[in-house]
Parts: sequence; C-alpha cells; structure tokens
Amino acid sequence: MQIYNTLTGKKEEFKPLEKNKVKMYVCGPTVYNYIHIGNARPYIVFDAFRRYLEYKGMEVNYVQNFTDVDDKIIKKANETNKTMKEIADKYIAEAFKDADGLNVKRATYHPRVTEEIPSIIKMIQTLMDKGYAYEVKGSVYFDTQAYPEYGKLSKKRQEDLEAGARIAIDEEKRNPMDFVLWKPKKQGEPAWKSPWGEGRPGWHIECSVMAKKYLGDTIDIHAGGEDLVFPHHENEIAQSEAANGKPFANYWIHNRFLNVDNRKMSKSLGNFFTVRDVSKEFPYEVIRFFMLSAHYRSPINFSRELMESAKNGLERIKTSLSNMQHVIDHSLPKSLTVEEEKRVEEIPIFRKKFEKAMEDDINTADAIAAIFELVKFANTYVNLDSSTEFIQKLQKEIKNLCNILGLLEQEEEDKIENEIEDLIQQREEARKNKNWIIADQIRDQLKEQGIILEDTPAGVRWKRVNE
Ligand code: AMP
Ligand code: ZN
Repeated sequence: MQIYNTLTGKKEEFKPLEKNKVKMYVCGPTVYNYIHIGNARPYIVFDAFRRYLEYKGMEVNYVQNFTDVDDKIIKKANETNKTMKEIADKYIAEAFKDADGLNVKRATYHPRVTEEIPSIIKMIQTLMDKGYAYEVKGSVYFDTQAYPEYGKLSKKRQEDLEAGARIAIDEEKRNPMDFVLWKPKKQGEPAWKSPWGEGRPGWHIECSVMAKKYLGDTIDIHAGGEDLVFPHHENEIAQSEAANGKPFANYWIHNRFLNVDNRKMSKSLGNFFTVRDVSKEFPYEVIRFFMLSAHYRSPINFSRELMESAKNGLERIKTSLSNMQHVIDHSLPKSLTVEEEKRVEEIPIFRKKFEKAMEDDINTADAIAAIFELVKFANTYVNLDSSTEFIQKLQKEIKNLCNILGLLEQEEEDKIENEIEDLIQQREEARKNKNWIIADQIRDQLKEQGIILEDTPAGVRWKRVNE
C-alpha cells in the first residue's frame, strides 16, 4: 500500500515496524466547544484508513488525545462560571456523541492531558538533562538550536524560520523559534507542581508524551490536519527525537482543509458550523459519505449543494439495495442461471478496483466510484426474474464494500456471517500449513456457535445446525 508521507514529500510503500501491527497517533481536538465540520474531516478520513488497515488483517493500536487544558477552555470556564474540568468533560462527551454518529470507531486509547502531567514533567526533565531545554523564570523552553534537524517536516530551514518569525521576540527566549514546554502559573488558572514551580504544560509536549506512553518511542503513523505540520508536529518531532534518541514517526499523514463556500471557516466570517448543527439537516451518514467522496489530500468545499449531492449519492446505493430486496421478497426461489453464474464471476472486479484505489494513498473517492460501478452493474443485471442467490451476492458485496469505509449500518446478521467466513478462512490457512490442532479448534469453536462445516470439492460450505 502506498501512502503519501509529508516527511519525505513522496508516496511510499507502507510497512509497519512490526508485521501486521500498526501504531497510529492522531491529534485530537481541544475541547471547549462542539467539534466543527472541519474537525470531522480528520476524524472520518483517518477512521476509514484505520478500518482499511484492519480489513487487511492488521491490528491497529490507535491513539487520539483530548487537549483538556488550554487558554480557550479556561476562558470558556471563566465566562460560564464552571471549572475547566466541567467544560472539558462536557465537550468530550459531546465529541464522542458526534464521533459515534459519524460511525468513527473509538480509539484504543483516548488520553487526556490533565491525567498525564507526571509523564509530561518527566519528559521535560529529560529534555533539560540532555541539554535540549532551558528554564527562565518558571518557564521551560525547547532550545531549537540544540536540535539541528529542526524544520525537517515542514521543510523550513532554521535561518528562514528566524527571518520569518513574526512573533515579537520574547525576551526570555534564546531564539524566536524556541517554544514553550512548561508555562508558569497565572492568576486564576489551573496549575500543577513541578521542578520549575507551579504551572501547566505547553501544547506540543502532550502528544510526544502520550505517543510514547501508549505506543512507544517510534510509531508507524502520525496524523492530523495540514495546519498541524508547523509548528505542532515539527515541535513534536524535536521533543520526541531529542528526548528518546530515536526516530519518532515513520509516516506523517495530513489531511487538507475543509473550506465553507470556498472560504476559510471562521466564527468571524459567520460560516462556522458544528457537526451537531449540520447533523440536524443532513444525517451523520451523509456527512461521512461527503467527507469520503474526496481524497483526503484534496481541499474539500462544504456547501449545501455539495451536501445535497452527497445525500443523493448515498441514496442511490440504498435505493439499489432496497430495490433488490423488493425483488427477493416478491419472487419465488430460483437457482442461479448459467448467465448469472458468469455475472457472479465479474463481481470480484469491483472489489479489486476498490482495493486498488485504497492502496493508492487511501483514495476513498475512487473507492466510492468502484462501489457506484458495482451498483450500476447490479441495477443493469437484476430484474424481476433474477434468482435470489444472484441478488444476495450483489447486495452482500455492495454492503461489504460500504462497510469497509464505515458506510451504511452494518447489519448484525452480516457481521456474524463475516466473522464466520473469517474463521473459515483462518481454518483453511491452518490446514494449508498442516496445523491440524488450530484447524480443529476453529471447527469446534464454530460448532459451539451452531455452525457446521462441509468440505466439498468446491471449497468449504457452512450451515446452521438448526436449518
Ligand atoms: P483543533 O481542535 O483545532 O486542534 O483541531 C482538531 C483537528 O481538526 C486537527 O487535526 C486539525 O488539523 C483539524 N482541523 C481543524 N480545522 C480543520 C478544517 N477546517 N479542515 C480540516 N481539518 C481541520
Ligand atoms: Zn498533537
């Protein structure tokens, strides 16, 4: 599988450090409001990527943090007479509601900054001990001069960074590009004890710490929106590689931004939409379909018209499925005709196209196009005379391809059937490797679920005992 790596500026073959195991870290939201429609893009595209890796048999350890200490959260807490924790708890719960609606799987871990302070202090201390950080009056800064590779992700050179640094030169910093790791306590702000006095962490250090703690020193994939390349991810690399003495992430993946009516979304322009508000007009599944209809590295424009067209697209798939169901419900059982058998042999072509698109830098737009081709194929060849078996094969393949992308609710029965088929596949593998014990174990496991297997010349068939 090829993925575009921001670090090297090229598409590369994706090879996880450990075979079939993927360590993936995705920067999460700062929780002071409902997630907005822009935030939904990384949520959905990286979830689709994860699902595809899982479909390929990889075990994905997926970590997404919540930034639950930040100026904006503190401001909101002060304005509403609540504590920072009350604000964060509320918007974390709301973010989960939206993510569930969007069919985004829960991460393996969802760490929160306020629960990781001791590990954060420890990493800052390591950076101090190794000479990569310095303290000035209760603030600790990362010394970018001490890390010569600074700028390698964003392809900025130290000199350019300094020349272009617009921020007023902070007297305290040795260099304008140095960034804060620990901030001293301010009046009315939450603070924790540290070797440098009471204070709280800067923003960037949290992700270096959480990635290390939950995934290890070197991870496979680090992802987020394009705005994070600089400075956030550049700073994460500096912190992690300086502290751990090892490469941080092998693949850096960034989604392009979502604009609204071709303009940057912002509260001041009055074109700011939360996912919750949009979901009142367009169901969550339409939002998901909309996001996946574009390649994650193309900018995407959010407008009512484009949402309407996403809605129609999804409807086309659903209508085809329900029309096919209608034929099944109103026809007598028939067996596959010779003509249909030939058509059935064509079905895998669509899956190959789908996979080819996904293997090419997660091209969900082309993957969805392959689903539409299959829908068209079904609409062309299914008629009132079609056999139930033929129709079911088409329905199932459309649903399965959609499910790989997290589209369409997966029906319980389909899930069970997929699991049974996975087990049969594993048993076949075991038998090929003459691993009879495993093969028998799988057969027994299925038997307990009331499934019996029949080895036929055409392959393994299964049926339910009570059928
Ligand atoms: P934030 O809460 O701003 O840190 O954002 C959380 C995630 O959403 C990050 O990965 C951002 O890069 C991403 N993000 C924010 N705004 C947009 C946008 N308009 N389009 C796409 N991604 C965005
Ligand atoms: Zn981050």
